[in-house]
Amino acid sequence: MESKVTKIGVLTSGGDAPGMNAAIRAVVRTGIYHNLEVYGIMRGYMGMIDNDIFKMESKTVANIIQRGGTILKTARCKEFYTIEGRKKAYENLKEFGIDGLVVIGGDGSFRGAQIFSHEFDIPCIGLPGTIDKDIAGTDFTIGFDTAVNTAVDAIDKVRDTADAHDRLFIIEVMGRDSGYIALHSGVATGAENILIPERKTDVESVVKALEEKHGRKKLVNIIVVAEGESFGAVELAKVITERIPDQEVRVTILGHIQRGGSPTCFDRLIASRMGYAAVECLIAGKFNVFVGILNNKMHYIPLDQAIKQKQKISEDWMKIVKILSS
Ligand code: ADP
Repeated sequence: MESKVTKIGVLTSGGDAPGMNAAIRAVVRTGIYHNLEVYGIMRGYMGMIDNDIFKMESKTVANIIQRGGTILKTARCKEFYTIEGRKKAYENLKEFGIDGLVVIGGDGSFRGAQIFSHEFDIPCIGLPGTIDKDIAGTDFTIGFDTAVNTAVDAIDKVRDTADAHDRLFIIEVMGRDSGYIALHSGVATGAENILIPERKTDVESVVKALEEKHGRKKLVNIIVVAEGESFGAVELAKVITERIPDQEVRVTILGHIQRGGSPTCFDRLIASRMGYAAVECLIAGKFNVFVGILNNKMHYIPLDQAIKQKQKISEDWMKIVKILSS
């Protein structure tokens, strides 16, 4: 059954991710194509509470598909955790006549959307916008590909200097409690080891493998460590220096460069497809779902699934890492 959404709001929330602008553009232009009014909400749920809401036109989203960050800005909003805050947000939406929402963000933003939708009977559609790729039910999230490519570019550069000096670099990449950026960037740069939060780090076996390679004069230049991995890059460097004193070790933390920059073609494409699908979904009367991509097809997945589950990393990956670095 088709619902009667007439005015929709779009916001970006939580951590920013390259490709969010491409998603906003797709939502706005698909909405206008279907004769809907589209409203931009600034700074995520904060703008809903502060009434920082404005009508968007096709030209509002001109020339943004290639830009990182988000023109709607993003924020973490404490007030939205409270019923009073969400009620204020609802009253502001009501004033504008907004009867559907597209929330671009991570699992925290989805949790907020789900609670809000239940309380005030407003259909909400999620778009997975996070560099961490930590949302279950979708093969990709908007921003992940760009972040990984940035990490790959940086690690390649570090490898040049590592190789010139016969140094070992331990490189920390982002991902919060997800190891996907580490895994993908590590495999793609030929890292000798990759440490991720999904697998408990066995420091002894990491050091033993290094000692063995050191003994047979195999050069080891790169170990990639996810920021959420419990042992930590700095601590690992200390242990290696103690155990293999003639191995020079350096730590590089890539940090926020992984969040910025122009989105890759892949991120622009999935953001455009997902933004389009989100509006189609609202018009079709579906809600409390997020738009994901599985086996290169669009899927609508209950928000619950993203909230309750994490993406898993298959054992195959770890085997590949071990075999290819030997
Ligand atoms: P991300 O969306 O990147 O995972 P956060 O976890 O910080 O980022 O969530 C973004 C925002 O979503 C929070 O600042 C808050 O406003 C809202 N939010 C998250 N969880 C809840 C919740 N349980 N109830 C209400 N709002 C929530």
